[in-house]
Amino acid sequence: MKKLFIETYGCQMNVADSEVVAAILSSEYQICDDIKEADLILINTCSVRDHAEQRIRKRLNELGFLKKKKPGLQIGLLGCMAERVKEKLLHEESALDFIAGPDAYRSLPTLIQEATFGKTAFNVMLSTEETYDDIDPIRYDTNGISAFISIMRGCNNFCTYCVVPYTRGRERSRNSKTIINEAQQLINQGYKEITLLGQNVNSYHSEEDGEIVNFAKLMEKVALLSPQVRVRFATSHPKDISDELIETIAKYDNCCKYIHLPVQAGSNTMLKRMNRVYTREYYLERIATIRRIMPECSIATDIIAGFCGETEEDHQATLSLMREVGYSSAYMFKYSEREGTMAAKRFPDDIPDEVKGRRLEEIIALQQELSLESNQKDIGKTFEVLVEGASKRSNNEYFGRNSQNKVIIFPKEDCHIGDYVNVLVQSCSPATLKGIIVKS
Ligand code: SF4
Repeated sequence: MKKLFIETYGCQMNVADSEVVAAILSSEYQICDDIKEADLILINTCSVRDHAEQRIRKRLNELGFLKKKKPGLQIGLLGCMAERVKEKLLHEESALDFIAGPDAYRSLPTLIQEATFGKTAFNVMLSTEETYDDIDPIRYDTNGISAFISIMRGCNNFCTYCVVPYTRGRERSRNSKTIINEAQQLINQGYKEITLLGQNVNSYHSEEDGEIVNFAKLMEKVALLSPQVRVRFATSHPKDISDELIETIAKYDNCCKYIHLPVQAGSNTMLKRMNRVYTREYYLERIATIRRIMPECSIATDIIAGFCGETEEDHQATLSLMREVGYSSAYMFKYSEREGTMAAKRFPDDIPDEVKGRRLEEIIALQQELSLESNQKDIGKTFEVLVEGASKRSNNEYFGRNSQNKVIIFPKEDCHIGDYVNVLVQSCSPATLKGIIVKS
């Protein structure tokens, strides 16, 4: 059998997509983990920031040298960058044999064949229906403990800075029965944690046999499959986080008490310009509801520094909102203009790079403080931790996460990867908790 090497960039959705691609090509290709052995290399790309695309172009340049040494090696580009730049990429990047957008993976066998015969091979058609729900992903890079299930594709929100609605198309949800079947298979294989994935999971909606399944119902159905298996999700839009969902997460012990609720900015002017369709006040009300129903829940976010027209006052509003919420962690970035988005068409990217950089540094410094504060509150508490692997720092320690998605390090003793253990937290840094196993 021929060998396939997949390199995946960007978000968890891309990781899940690469697993679908591995399944689509499995009758002809076997996944390998040494790129030098590969007959086919696929690069699954991200377009969210310009930096991500520049990195991929650099990588393609390197792969061009590999190709010269190995005649017959084929290289294909998948994902958002393929969709955004389209066939122009084939002219710009000589290492490439073919490209396929996120909804075109079923056509990969044909594209590979066309490229073999020297044809210009690309498919970047977006679909309004494709969910790959009949394909069993091959989880080739797994710890055997945690798995992702893609429950929907695309996005209808059109935040003005974001390329996703253009590169991944309109939102569509997978049939819930196929999701439950996939979750059950994972449980049968011994997985202990399932993360339901989508660009905006809380607008999930499917109708089968007269039953309407929204995201809260889907979470419940997956949680009920096994109390021993944790359920997480990523990611959600504040406009759709309903009381019903919060109550469902609270109701089941195995629904993890962690919500990633991207705010992006703290001032109403910026939120409006970003087309986030909520206000600071609405967002804080949702946070208050989460805290009221689940005081133990940790909340994480995404923040963009230096969006178009952001004033010092807007920036201060972001910092004050961060303090008010007390996020346990955050993904923080400088605004990167993406061609084709509403922001690129309507608003000048007018914040100088050094101002964006300084604001980002202030946001990161504040988050470090908040993460440390949040972790310090956990000292003296005992958490149930799913053992995920050996700690990178020490061979004598394991790492795992608690329900709140915090990484906890503890000495290896009387447990194995995949076990649940109770860990008493004794110390912390902004990034991790450290503790010892205690008997319950
Ligand atoms: S919700 Fe907004 S930021 Fe998230 S994928 Fe959709 S358009 Fe992009």
